[in-house]
Amino acid sequence: MTFPFEALTACGAELEEEASANDAQAAFPSEGMGRLRELGVLSASLPHTLGGQGFGTGQQNIIGLLHLLRLVGQGSLALGRIVEGHINAIRLIACYGTPDQLARAAADVHDGALFGVWVTEGTTPLRMEQVDGTIRLRGEKIFASGARHVTRALVTARTHDETTRMLLVTLDDGRDVSPVFGGLSGMRGAETGRCDFGAMTLPPDAVIGQEGDYLRQPEFSAGAWRGMAVALGGIERLATLLRLQLAERGRAESPAQQARIGQALIATETAYLWTRKAALIVATQDGRDAGDIVATVNLARIAVERAGLDVIELVQRGLGLSAFTRTNVAERLIRDLATYLRQPAPDETLCEGAAWFTHRDLPRMEDMR
Ligand SMILES: Cc1cc2nc3c(=O)[nH]c(=O)nc-3n(C[C@H](O)[C@H](O)[C@H](O)COP(=O)(O)OP(=O)(O)OC[C@H]3O[C@@H](n4cnc5c(N)ncnc54)[C@H](O)[C@@H]3O)c2cc1C
Repeated sequence: MTFPFEALTACGAELEEEASANDAQAAFPSEGMGRLRELGVLSASLPHTLGGQGFGTGQQNIIGLLHLLRLVGQGSLALGRIVEGHINAIRLIACYGTPDQLARAAADVHDGALFGVWVTEGTTPLRMEQVDGTIRLRGEKIFASGARHVTRALVTARTHDETTRMLLVTLDDGRDVSPVFGGLSGMRGAETGRCDFGAMTLPPDAVIGQEGDYLRQPEFSAGAWRGMAVALGGIERLATLLRLQLAERGRAESPAQQARIGQALIATETAYLWTRKAALIVATQDGRDAGDIVATVNLARIAVERAGLDVIELVQRGLGLSAFTRTNVAERLIRDLATYLRQPAPDETLCEGAAWFTHRDLPRMEDMR
């Protein structure tokens, strides 16, 4: 493993410290973001020809991306969310944009741009209208991560005939951002807010891809594996804190606490194996039924969510009230992880995965080459 994985591991403590320091004010982790940028994290998913590492395509590179995301998540789930959104945007431009659009995005990344994907709708969904050769926007996005710091937002917008298009919006400092419903209790550093696009106007080449591309399967569901990789980092860190804090307090040897440590390790490894399986099936799509990819990633999403919830409960029961004290990093991490695990439509995700594999066998990891 090369990349700067060692450097990324080494800066985990710095990222964690900043996440804790910024939590009360819900401040953006600017120093950590600067450090990740220096290490090449933000350009890693660009193709080699555009100055990146090609992370996210091919079996070997997808495991590289898995490790990158989990290492960032171990240090800070908020930063992990921002990095994951940035990589998601680059991936969508690579899949559906023109070569020119990807080259421009790469140049922007090298110039320090931060990308995000903002698709979640509130009461005023984002709409687009073609006026005099330009695109006029009206409406807002909610739960937009990096709401004040993202400089290139890939958004979905509805057209007059209710189809959905992707647009790449260049954002300046004058954007209209407000907290969503008073702000989230966890993931506070991810700056997840409401962004009102007012009457913004875009050039025609802001459109990425064709009608229907955003929801095209398997890409639409498959991309969830990257969010799992970030969550995995948080789960791993929480399981580590359980072991460390029980040992520090001389409580690790009791059989009940040993059982909790064992269960936390099992849950963590389960999350890792499902995330790895989801990543590998995404990387080995050739000749595979898209339904197998979607359903495997869907089941993996629920497995990782379950593992995270289990580890949260084990830490709260194992450490007791100390896991609820503001000075314990585990307290903030539990709020961050519990919030991060709230991903869209979990019931539907499980049921769709289950329905698909009721009459078919689950793909095996050893067949994913
Ligand atoms: C930290 C964080 C950062 C985020 N950043 C971004 C971002 O940058 N960009 C972005 O676009 N979004 C972002 N989101 C929003 C995210 O993509 C989801 O929209 C959000 O997490 C959905 O959570 P929810 O619990 O409201 O989901 P829901 O889908 O509303 O699920 C809540 C519950 O309702 C159930 N349910 C869902 N639909 C129905 C139904 N029709 N009938 C009955 N039950 C139903 C579900 O199964 C579940 O049990 C972010 C979210 C978080 C937590």
